[in-house]
Amino acid sequence: RAKSAGGNRFELADPEADARAITRHGLTTALPAALERGEFFIEYQPLVHLGDGSVHGAEALVRWLHPQHGVLGPDRFIPLAEHTGLIVPLGRWVLEQSVRQAGRWHERHADSGPLRINVNLSPCQLTHPGLVQDTVEILERTGVAPEALCLEVTESALIGADDDLLKPLRRLAEMGVDIALDDFGTGYSNLANLRRLPVSILKLDRSFTQSMQQFPADPVDLKIVEGIVSLAHSLDLAVTVEGVETGAQAEQLRILGCDTAQGWYYARPGPPERLHELALVDATR
Ligand code: C2E
Ligand code: MG
Ligand code: MG
Ligand code: MG
Repeated sequence: RAKSAGGNRFELADPEADARAITRHGLTTALPAALERGEFFIEYQPLVHLGDGSVHGAEALVRWLHPQHGVLGPDRFIPLAEHTGLIVPLGRWVLEQSVRQAGRWHERHADSGPLRINVNLSPCQLTHPGLVQDTVEILERTGVAPEALCLEVTESALIGADDDLLKPLRRLAEMGVDIALDDFGTGYSNLANLRRLPVSILKLDRSFTQSMQQFPADPVDLKIVEGIVSLAHSLDLAVTVEGVETGAQAEQLRILGCDTAQGWYYARPGPPERLHELALVDATR
């Protein structure tokens, strides 16, 4: 337990905090066995073109079916896995499963163009020496083209990144893998810094989408998004927006020039079969 001296008084005063700490501890120690027992699974959330609503690809989002606590979202266990280092094998598992799944979509929809697969990378995976080789091997094993894969890295993970950290991402980008800057706009990155990063996609944080709730949206927010989109496009970066929940938001963001979108308005994260249905509906339109 983290607190030792004087810790007992705190525990008595705040039993809920103590229960949370126990759960955290319990979850942390259960993680390795959970990976071996296959308790993790992946949901896929479609990414659509804002112009015509057609499906562009999907983001892989990991979940844990815990035997006692039920389905846990990544916010509950990814930080714990990062803390213990389990994120490296867990992240590799997510990458392999998702790319394999993309391969199955490609077989089913050979004529409608390959659905792209987006996979989140934790900062710990970036500094792990096996990243490039693992990715290459997974792509080779599954026969999926590097161009169909997009790795999402948060803006905060790359703040102040030196060349050593960027090297593996550069290698992957040279192979044709897209790198997306996730949750863009929440960090403190120097916009000029963008030029230095091997990224080809900006994923605008949900907070911007939320401020498009009102119609017309806050004029300052509109200007900010407009500015980001025009800067991104002038640097040859595509802009994805996350957290689109209403048609009004989608329309506003489309007018502002965003390229692709993701959110409950289109589809919640779900099982991989859902993508078949969505893509098929799409192809017959
Ligand atoms: P993220 O990469 O920014 O993923 C988007 C999150 O927004 C997902 O939450 C998704 O379910 C949620 N979302 C999508 N559309 C909407 C919407 O319209 N409204 C609202 N309110 N939320 C929406 P989720 O699945 O809980 O994942 C949370 C975060 O956990 C992700 O944020 C990502 O940073 C991390 N994560 C998920 N899977 C992985 C993984 O395999 N590896 C790593 N390292 N991180 C992961
Ligand atoms: Mg993401
Ligand atoms: Mg995101
Ligand atoms: Mg986010």
